[in-house]
Amino acid sequence: MDQEIHFNKTKIVATVGPASNDKDMLRKLMQEGVDIFRLNFSHGTHEDHSKVIQYVRELNEELGTHVCLLQDLQGPKIRLGEVEKDAEITTGQKFIITTEEMVGTSEKASTVYQGLPDDVVPGDMILIDDGKIELKVTGKNGREVETEVIFGGKLKSRKGINMPYTKVSAPSLTEKDIADLEFGLPHDIEWVALSFVRSAEDIRDLRGRIKAAGKTSRIIAKVEKPEAIKNIDEIIEETDAVMVARGDLGVEIFMEEVPMAQKMIVEKCNKLAKPVIIATQMMESMIENPRPTRAETNDVANAVMDGADALMLSAETAAGLFPVEVIRSMVKTITSVERQADVYFKHEMPEKEDPLFLNNALILNACRLAQSTKATAIVGMTASGYTAFKLAAHRPKGNIFIFTHNRPLLNTMNLIWGVRGFYYDKAESTDHTFADIEEILKSNGYIQQGDVFITTASMPLKERGRTNTIKLNVVD
Ligand code: PGA
Ligand code: MN
Repeated sequence: MDQEIHFNKTKIVATVGPASNDKDMLRKLMQEGVDIFRLNFSHGTHEDHSKVIQYVRELNEELGTHVCLLQDLQGPKIRLGEVEKDAEITTGQKFIITTEEMVGTSEKASTVYQGLPDDVVPGDMILIDDGKIELKVTGKNGREVETEVIFGGKLKSRKGINMPYTKVSAPSLTEKDIADLEFGLPHDIEWVALSFVRSAEDIRDLRGRIKAAGKTSRIIAKVEKPEAIKNIDEIIEETDAVMVARGDLGVEIFMEEVPMAQKMIVEKCNKLAKPVIIATQMMESMIENPRPTRAETNDVANAVMDGADALMLSAETAAGLFPVEVIRSMVKTITSVERQADVYFKHEMPEKEDPLFLNNALILNACRLAQSTKATAIVGMTASGYTAFKLAAHRPKGNIFIFTHNRPLLNTMNLIWGVRGFYYDKAESTDHTFADIEEILKSNGYIQQGDVFITTASMPLKERGRTNTIKLNVVD
């Protein structure tokens, strides 16, 4: 591994777009500390995304890194159709949204979402452009929804429509999502994010499709609907990871409720060892400025303190003027907070009813031992990734190094708090493997003479079973 590569525990997700989709910029961002690149399938062509996938994989080879990819499926995002320039609606006027295709005016505009007239009832709220415009449904007429404008403003083409109080009947995986997934699966993209998740069933549907294709991509549930908050426990249980998608969530519920929702979701995810990403507007002003605001820096710091596994950038790196500076600012803040804040040693006892209780208890005690011996590092070996997720959930202060013979898993684990992966496929003997691991970590400069480090393993090694061994080491 290249020592120039940064070493935060809290990971950084950067969305790729026109400001970052060439190979040199991707390399720079990786060297500054990006751990995950998000491909946003609300934008760009499959050809654009293919190129980025290829570049990132090539750069991993070149830099010896395991940066992973996240395919973000648009989901049932409802949008306004085209509208003519200078269209503006004023508070108090009547306004119609139709499912018939037309160029919108100040009286009427369209949406491609055909279910709209069926889903809404009089009194429902329709928000356009992140809630900048607010409409109240007054009636329906065939394919038209009649509204009264509560807050007016300028209408712009293709802006998002949110309906917080309406039960949207569109399926979670739209036709576009299914086509995008079919494009993504053969590329073995490590993480697939599903937007506007409402229930655990949405996750099961996606998982069924991934499995049917014989793939191992893991799932991120984007929490951005009130229904998802209501069903949060079943969703966390079913998914592999969660994104607190504050952009849409802040429109779908009152934005002043988002901070507590963020803390609630992070806490639940931490308990179940499910990685959690905090997303949207973390460094929003850096789209145009080379430095963040004090409030943004505080937001990033607080997300680290809440216990997020990863923090996400959207337009800041996809379309902003200062993508490199954004990552630098993120790294500086994360590093500073991780040095001072009490984010470590979450040593909660595992559930006795859990079929893996013994295994979980062993992992907990490896972390306790690491704490009491002030270990520089804690090492896990895994075929499934389980040990990596579990070790990280206890938030050890020493670095987490995970060795696996499962190559695709190396990238997948890059999303998890603190985890650094190494490829290792020998299974001669435990003595041999432990000696190898010490040598690898030493030669990379991750441990030095006199350092204590903890190794966990499964004995006998050849069986590649569950972790059942803890070893305490001092580097000679
Ligand atoms: P988006 O998701 O950027 O795909 O909308 C994140 C969010 O809504 O916060
Ligand atoms: Mn969203």
